[in-house]
Amino acid sequence: MILTVTMNPSIDTRYQLSELIVDDVNRVQPMKTAGGKGLNVSRVLMQLGDEVLATGLLGGHMGAYMEELMDRDGIPHSFTPIAGETRICLNILHEGNQTELLEGGPEISTAELGAFETAYAALVGRASCVTISGSLPAGVPADCYAKLVRVARSAGVPVLLDSSGAPLDAALESRARPTLVKPNLTEINGLLGTSFTTDQLDELQQALRSDKRFEDISWVVVSAGAAGSIAFRGERTYRVTQPPIPAVNATGSGDATIAGFAHAIVGGNDDETVLRIANTCGKLNAMDPQTGHLAMEHWDEVYGAVKVTEL
Ligand code: ADP
Repeated sequence: MILTVTMNPSIDTRYQLSELIVDDVNRVQPMKTAGGKGLNVSRVLMQLGDEVLATGLLGGHMGAYMEELMDRDGIPHSFTPIAGETRICLNILHEGNQTELLEGGPEISTAELGAFETAYAALVGRASCVTISGSLPAGVPADCYAKLVRVARSAGVPVLLDSSGAPLDAALESRARPTLVKPNLTEINGLLGTSFTTDQLDELQQALRSDKRFEDISWVVVSAGAAGSIAFRGERTYRVTQPPIPAVNATGSGDATIAGFAHAIVGGNDDETVLRIANTCGKLNAMDPQTGHLAMEHWDEVYGAVKVTEL
């Protein structure tokens, strides 16, 4: 099975309003889902037909409710219990805008993190691949993902790391070698202290190749929204573009891309096929109104139109 890690999950509540009236009553119908980037990865993997297990930290009444929501969606899960309450995130869609209210989440104790690490090491032993996504909750040191990557790699299991800021930086600095990292263009510019665009591939390639933090990572993929992605694979560089079909909801496209990579890497595909599958997943997520859900009816059309060019 593919193990997906979500350390800071949330109950995502979405409200659709024709108009948000500030400083007055708004009557709403909520739509609640088990949220967090790793949960989006799990949903997409299930659509691709992969066996999945979602793990991470869950606590309190909201944690119990989150388990109900995962059961409702048929997502197999094994989370470590914590004392704090799992957070709630509100997403208000109104007048073409998306207003979000995101709770920070519970504080994790050293003992809770230790219990998770023990459970994680046992689950890794049953996994064909691990994906690690998103932010870390309060109380968890920034080097947590570096440790999780090391555990998976020493068990010979490929591990895909999709994070940003301090946890990603700490993993790269620590020399823990994930199989794949997938910063988006903004995130890679943040890490490198640059402001490259998709037109500056040579410069980006040089900056990455001369930066020791990316040495020996099998796949460094820089995703660039509607402009597709750029993949650095050892000495090879690939530019991937996709058909100009309009997007309806690009939230979760990065998570869908990670699911595509995990699916394709576990399947033992060649580089071009891996990139095609991953980009098709990102694009199909953007073509579906639901976050973490692929518009599967367009698979053949998009897969056939994705272009992978070796530079
Ligand atoms: P993240 O969600 O992590 O910021 P990106 O926005 O770069 O990642 O999206 C990941 C992938 O999803 C892209 O490489 C692309 O394949 C697809 N994608 C994202 N946004 C769009 C969009 N607006 N139109 C078409 N495809 C998109």
